[in-house]
Amino acid sequence: MKRVLVTGGSRGIGAAAVRLFAADGWQVIANYCGSEEQARALAAETSCLLCRADVSDSDSRSALLAFADEALGGIDVLVNNAGVALFGLFDALPENAVQKLYSVNLTGTVELCRLFLPQMLRRKSGCIVNVSSVWGTTGASCEVDYSASKAAVAGLTRALAREVGPSGVRVNCVAPGVIDTDMNGRLTYEEMLALTDEIPLMRLGTAEEAAKAIFFLASEDSAYITGQVLGVDGGFR
Ligand code: NAP
Repeated sequence: MKRVLVTGGSRGIGAAAVRLFAADGWQVIANYCGSEEQARALAAETSCLLCRADVSDSDSRSALLAFADEALGGIDVLVNNAGVALFGLFDALPENAVQKLYSVNLTGTVELCRLFLPQMLRRKSGCIVNVSSVWGTTGASCEVDYSASKAAVAGLTRALAREVGPSGVRVNCVAPGVIDTDMNGRLTYEEMLALTDEIPLMRLGTAEEAAKAIFFLASEDSAYITGQVLGVDGGFR
């Protein structure tokens, strides 16, 4: 039975991915940070294991590795999905919020790759699926740091895929467009309509649609795919 860790598995795209993996018979660890109630409900629904950890914190990341080793003897697939957004003018954002964004979106992803790779390299198999964003490709006004963090995740994916491909480990990335989750909860109805107007498929994506791309890149159906950034954006980019 295959084993997967999904960071930020308590809500949105991560929770949808947990549901897909669990429905396909995988052993799933759902990581969460603040949303304990949602995480517990998801565990009751899917029988996934839960591990509370702040991916921006080094000790928490080590605890996540120890939990996966103890509970499942390691993992086959790491999904780096946990992320936070930050809206506002570039030169007006509070430094602590900016630092937190980079430490969740970028450092969390980079360092979890570093922690979980050795076991994959030893086995000469395994895969990592990172979650970037369409903004990491196009850049977004008033989401400059978010865009930069997500561009870095795409860059990490491409480079790491080259380094570990010869060892049988695949690294890919999903770049969602505008997906209907809590992350976009701050958008007004008018902003949502304006965004929808720019999307060729003329609607927002669902968490499940983004999760299906994650699942595909984690599955054997994508066995010859590595180093890719797969847009799930209704043609937005
Ligand atoms: P969401 O509904 O806001 O969920 C975010 C998830 O990340 C939650 O499960 C949250 O866990 C977790 N998280 C946040 N900070 C964390 C931390 N420090 N440690 C561990 N987990 C943490 O967002 P979403 O839309 O599903 O986003 C999922 C991913 O897709 C993110 O990387 C996001 O940047 C990316 N994305 C989203 C969109 C979109 O339009 N929604 C577009 C492009 C990319 P807790 O609630 O338990 O704290």
